[in-house]
Amino acid sequence: MKSISILGATGSIGTQTFDVVRSHPEQFCVTSFSFGKNLKLGKALIEEFRPNVVSVSTKELAEELKRTISHSCHVYYGEEGLLEVATDPKSDILINAVMGSVGLGPTLAAIEERKTIALANKETLVTAGHIVMDRAKRLGVSILPVDSEHSAIFQCLNGENKREMSKMILTASGGSFRDKSRSDLEGVTVEEALNHPNWSMGSKITIDSATMMNKGLEVIEAHWFFGTSYENIDVVLHRESVIHSMVEFVDGSVIAHLGTPDMKVPIQYALTYPKRLEVMGGKRLNLVEVGSLHFETMDMERFPCLRYAYEAGKAGGTMPTVLNAANEAAVEAFLNGQIPFLEIESLIEHALEVHDVIKDPSLSDIHEVDVSTRRFVQTLIV
Ligand code: NDP
Ligand code: MG
Repeated sequence: MKSISILGATGSIGTQTFDVVRSHPEQFCVTSFSFGKNLKLGKALIEEFRPNVVSVSTKELAEELKRTISHSCHVYYGEEGLLEVATDPKSDILINAVMGSVGLGPTLAAIEERKTIALANKETLVTAGHIVMDRAKRLGVSILPVDSEHSAIFQCLNGENKREMSKMILTASGGSFRDKSRSDLEGVTVEEALNHPNWSMGSKITIDSATMMNKGLEVIEAHWFFGTSYENIDVVLHRESVIHSMVEFVDGSVIAHLGTPDMKVPIQYALTYPKRLEVMGGKRLNLVEVGSLHFETMDMERFPCLRYAYEAGKAGGTMPTVLNAANEAAVEAFLNGQIPFLEIESLIEHALEVHDVIKDPSLSDIHEVDVSTRRFVQTLIV
């Protein structure tokens, strides 16, 4: 039986993790989890899974929770609460599925405790990939990918010699606006942006998919996960989301990972690796039904966020931190109705332009740059 801690329990990845646990009760139990503000769902999960430790976003919510649950457990809140869940001594593996760079501290704390980490929270690696991967390597901690593209590449590399890989090819569905020109994007609504054609996900990542920043973040994530140079990471537009990503080897062979778009598959694989289990209720891929697969070149002018991500990744240092923080602040402003869709891109571009990169930044440099970038973006929002 594997004991699991979950950060971001009430989110899209969090709730699908509970589905995986429910479908294999003999394999998994949940010892601790955190969520933000969704008390209704959080309480139901506490009553169902009876964890030892939970954490919510604020002191008020923690007090309300303590008053209203029948199960007795330790209730924490805020960033300290995330650390309590991340370092829960009773759990074997941490699923980090909180949204945003708030996931960095708990990832580092879990590494210090030598806990295996299943990482969905891509902002952690984007903002401080060199520190996270360095510490994990030094302490012999496994970080397993949950993001479908990285799980696909991880599986394509199973049993292969990584040095024989010539490049990796990430696939992108194109998001909700893939068929719109740049002029069509003026005036698009939050509701339209949240309508992803293939995947059902949290709101921030759905907007990231529409701007193509999601793929940009994934390129940087892939660089850190697999130690691949940016020159050897390609992105292709693949509307069907059947191939989740591919690896090309020196002899020209390409190994691809295929499946239906279902996040339960990579979540469960991270939990069972190196074994596999049946994914309950999962639809099987029927290639005859799919009929044909399509691939298109990514247009960096149409999707400038992908270009910004490659540039920030190649510049290194604190540039990816700025990219991530500016993006989080801009997406939040768009979701709150404060800015139009296209301003997400211009705010990020502006933040990157004015930043003086710090090479090989410390954790406190990263924290400062993260905070100051968010503040800078706020000042640009009128
Ligand atoms: P959601 O928005 O659906 O869920 C986010 C979770 O984090 C919720 O439980 C939310 O709590 C909690 N949360 C948000 N902010 C805070 C905070 N400041 N403090 C504590 N808890 C917080 O996101 P997703 O599940 O879609 O994504 C989570 C992460 O996984 C992201 O990094 C995303 O990029 C990545 N990812 C997601 C995929 C997907 O298919 N959804 C695929 C690949 C990667 P509450 O709602 O209770 O406030
Ligand atoms: Mg992905």
